[in-house]
Amino acid sequence: MQHRKITFIGAGNMARAIIAGLVAGGYPAKSISVCAPSAKNRDALAADYGIVSSSDNLACTQAADVVVLAVKPQMMADVCQPLREGVDFSAKLVLSIAAGIQVSRFYQLLGDKLNIVRIMPNTPSLVGKGMSGLYAPQQVSQQDRDYTSDLMASVGKVCWVEDENGINSVIAVAGSAPAYFFLFMEAMQQEAERMGFDSQTARNLVQQAASGAAALVEANPDTPLSTLREQVTSKGGTTAEALRVFNEQQLPATVAKAMQAAVSRAQEME
Ligand code: NAD
Repeated sequence: MQHRKITFIGAGNMARAIIAGLVAGGYPAKSISVCAPSAKNRDALAADYGIVSSSDNLACTQAADVVVLAVKPQMMADVCQPLREGVDFSAKLVLSIAAGIQVSRFYQLLGDKLNIVRIMPNTPSLVGKGMSGLYAPQQVSQQDRDYTSDLMASVGKVCWVEDENGINSVIAVAGSAPAYFFLFMEAMQQEAERMGFDSQTARNLVQQAASGAAALVEANPDTPLSTLREQVTSKGGTTAEALRVFNEQQLPATVAKAMQAAVSRAQEME
């Protein structure tokens, strides 16, 4: 990928995940800087990855080709205000990973000459298994789109959406999804403990079953999920009995309702 000068405004979990992926993929550390008010987080990143650390958002943004806005949504207006006055954004690429802030709001905050891409990553990015949804308005160049794809591919997979509303669907399908699986796994661990396994053994059993199932899905990308399910479900057997209960309890409909609730909440946050 191109090694443009990139700065991260915000030194939290998501900035760390992306920086770790970039450096592991051979992006030159000297082309990466990170800015945050608290020295603790940004200096830890500098120490871990050999990147430049600063408390000066404006100077780093002025010096960068690419600016990643990696602060909490509620901080965004305060962070953008001083940048608008001191930076010519027409020659830069701005990447926002903040949930709930639309492109139109960034035009208000940073001016309408902005080249902006919205990115919705998820926490498995921290272990290189992320799934990021990307959206860019029409005027963003193919070169900038390719650069952003490569950047996020350093921490997982990417999926472009044509319409900005698609970002809210990505939140429901991938952004929030790790928590759905954690909830399912927690419930399984609790029941395993009730069956008599100690907590560590219960966790190991559930964890290995979940990662094994995910690995089977990945190893058989052309096999429908329903076929994989049928392959472990003998007629009249134990799995069939468990699935009968899930279906009786409307698990598929509950999953659909939960995902719709996530979309609705994302829309409310805009
Ligand atoms: P975080 O709280 O871990 O990090 C936020 C960082 O912003 C901190 O380092 C803080 O010091 C810094 N910051 C605060 N004010 C600042 C300022 N004025 N200038 C520069 N830096 C400042 O948050 P996070 O989990 O890394 O999330 C960052 C963004 O990523 C959020 O907008 C969030 O919506 C988005 N996001 C997070 C996830 C997730 O799962 N964590 C997923 C998708 C999107």
